[in-house]
Amino acid sequence: MTITDRLDRPLRDLRISVTDRCNFRCPYCMPEEIFGERFQFLSRTEILSFEEITRLAQIMVRLGVRKLRLTGGEPLLRQDIEHLVEMLAAIEDVQDLAMTTNGYLLPQKAAALKSAGLHRLTVSLDSLDDAVFRLMNGNRSGVERVLAGIEAAEEAGFAPLKINCVVQRGVNDHTLVDMARYFKERGHIVRFIEYMDVGTMNGWKMDDVVPAREIIERIHSQLPLEPAEQHYQGEVAKRYHYRDGSGEIGLITSVTQPFCGGCTRLRLSPQGELFTCLFANQGTDLRARLRDGSSDKDIEMFLQGLWGRRVDRYSEERAEMTHPRSQKVEMYHIGG
Ligand code: SAM
Ligand code: SF4
Ligand code: SF4
Repeated sequence: MTITDRLDRPLRDLRISVTDRCNFRCPYCMPEEIFGERFQFLSRTEILSFEEITRLAQIMVRLGVRKLRLTGGEPLLRQDIEHLVEMLAAIEDVQDLAMTTNGYLLPQKAAALKSAGLHRLTVSLDSLDDAVFRLMNGNRSGVERVLAGIEAAEEAGFAPLKINCVVQRGVNDHTLVDMARYFKERGHIVRFIEYMDVGTMNGWKMDDVVPAREIIERIHSQLPLEPAEQHYQGEVAKRYHYRDGSGEIGLITSVTQPFCGGCTRLRLSPQGELFTCLFANQGTDLRARLRDGSSDKDIEMFLQGLWGRRVDRYSEERAEMTHPRSQKVEMYHIGG
């Protein structure tokens, strides 16, 4: 089955945030001042169980979802996450089962994730310069530890990996070419992400964004690039090949070149709210329905209605706004 929204976009991807907790404090996502020791994270009973998540994923797959991505918070902090992977991998018709992680716990977890049936891994790493990286993760990890996680993922058979790198002007933009060169040599795909105004707590300013065009120019001047064809309609990253044939990079241009027209994703928060846009100011609670005896058919119809009413295109609208939206869901809730 395929269901489409009001702008004729099918529902294809589900991003599942499995926890609101994280062992990093990246200032652009969970700034230390706000997510300090006294911050109240969700309790165990508030978050969805693996059975609840799997049930929802099964219903969504019946409605046309083919790609699942586990995220957070930091998904590897969720206890026994490999069991959830196993349960999701067993759903027929899931073509792609991926996870985005900060990589810190991969040395312990990579092999278990692979044998549980995870298809692909994306590891976030903003710089190879230790001081810069520490600045961008709230001083929770050095580069070595994440590189060890990447190595563990390679050994477990996940290569090639995607490496997510958020670019902030004046913070890590002088280290981008090093990132590109390092991972080019190792056959992984760096995806440079324009710093986004997700949530309301990171103090985002347009001046902090390095436009994708500029990122490309900087890398191209050292490591010549050429644009690559899109793999499929609705692909989020714009891809570029190295001219010497040794791999590719991707650009996530949500600020300067929005791609809402091809946006086929739904996001599930740890406590069971659904968000039809990364920049939504409100989610729709599903947990109550999962716990009140509603049948799968009831939930399926509810989801059909929710997607059928969807008109979100925030990134395209951002350009036309005089004031950015002041109330938005936080990234650690829905995982990017
Ligand atoms: N903790 C995991 C990690 O960092 O990979 C998964 C969750 S994290 C929210 C998912 C991705 O969103 C990461 O690659 C992170 O760098 C990115 N991200 C977080 N805040 C962002 C922002 N304000 N702009 C752009 N990307 C952001
Ligand atoms: Fe944690 Fe990922 Fe957010 Fe950094 S980007 S604070 S690692 S959830
Ligand atoms: Fe999709 Fe919303 Fe991002 Fe547009 S702004 S691409 S609708 S998540």
